[in-house]
Amino acid sequence: MQAAFFHGVRDVRVREIADAEPRAGEVLLEVRAVGICGSDLHTYLLGNIGGVSSREPIVLGHEASGVILALGAEVPPHLRVGQRVAIDPATPCLQCEFCQHGQQHLCLNLKFMGYFPQHGAMQERMTHPARSVVPVPDSISDVGAAMLEPLGVALHAARLGAVQHGEDVLVTGCGTIGLLCVRLARLAGARHIFATDRYAWRLDMAANFGADYCLNIDRVDPVEEVLRLTNKRGVDVAFEAAWVTPTANQCALAARNGGRVIIVGIPAEDEFTLKASVVRRKELTIIYSRRMNHTYEAAIALAERGLIDLDALGKHQMPLARVAEAFKAAADYHNGVVRAMVMPQMKG
Ligand SMILES: [Zn+2]
Ligand SMILES: [Zn+2]
Repeated sequence: MQAAFFHGVRDVRVREIADAEPRAGEVLLEVRAVGICGSDLHTYLLGNIGGVSSREPIVLGHEASGVILALGAEVPPHLRVGQRVAIDPATPCLQCEFCQHGQQHLCLNLKFMGYFPQHGAMQERMTHPARSVVPVPDSISDVGAAMLEPLGVALHAARLGAVQHGEDVLVTGCGTIGLLCVRLARLAGARHIFATDRYAWRLDMAANFGADYCLNIDRVDPVEEVLRLTNKRGVDVAFEAAWVTPTANQCALAARNGGRVIIVGIPAEDEFTLKASVVRRKELTIIYSRRMNHTYEAAIALAERGLIDLDALGKHQMPLARVAEAFKAAADYHNGVVRAMVMPQMKG
């Protein structure tokens, strides 16, 4: 079967590898859809993510859906062959202090697929721990099921931001996560939602997802606009969903006194700075968001009710053989590409 390996900066290659057998506690999956995440683009463009780099070629991809082809021993009875599932990339140990206290996303022994040294989902078939696959209803498409992972990331950030009815919200960066933050703020009853980006098609999507003011950072100063439109007060909550610099400072400058800034993006330089006087004088609460915790059920519920259009995010689909093109389209912000999807069962 075919798998796509990341070899180095802007170098992804497809090659033939042997099929794996599911071991005890694992399922064998036919992979249906895989999203190319901003964090995959960090790896693709920089060769590392947060200072962690891969010593040998690795299969990327952690936003994925599939169908169960075979069950290993000791797989729980709610899973069966033919079941469509979302693949949770994280397998926490369930033993450490943080797992035991409900913070499995902060597990000390976390295994995470598509992140060195665990191979990811950009392959035709893969084995995965049965406890990290989540059955999805037929009303959610393969692409939608793969997008439950980024929706979980946005849900986690939204919970940290705790948007209240009638509050004003800013989201900087209208990639997949930013768009989902916009949508969740709308569903949470925000009053005005401001969204910023530099690409018109992403701002159009933000409007579709519920943003009231879509600000093109190449045309206007987003901070000035937010302050003007809120009578100099600023927003209650700002979500940073770009690559952090200089958008984190825009969030701080656009936040009201006592406001909250949630950092969801990953800075390319693995560092970011905030103007101390701004944060201090406003007594801002700055919260860093790390992936997600126990969000699949809520994500499935929102998708099933039709409250979030996950399919709209993944319209750009490529077969596995053209994975290099998919990475290029995502990395170079090709027109209209929100989440570039790799579809391992698609012929091409
Ligand atoms: Zn991701
Ligand atoms: Zn743990």
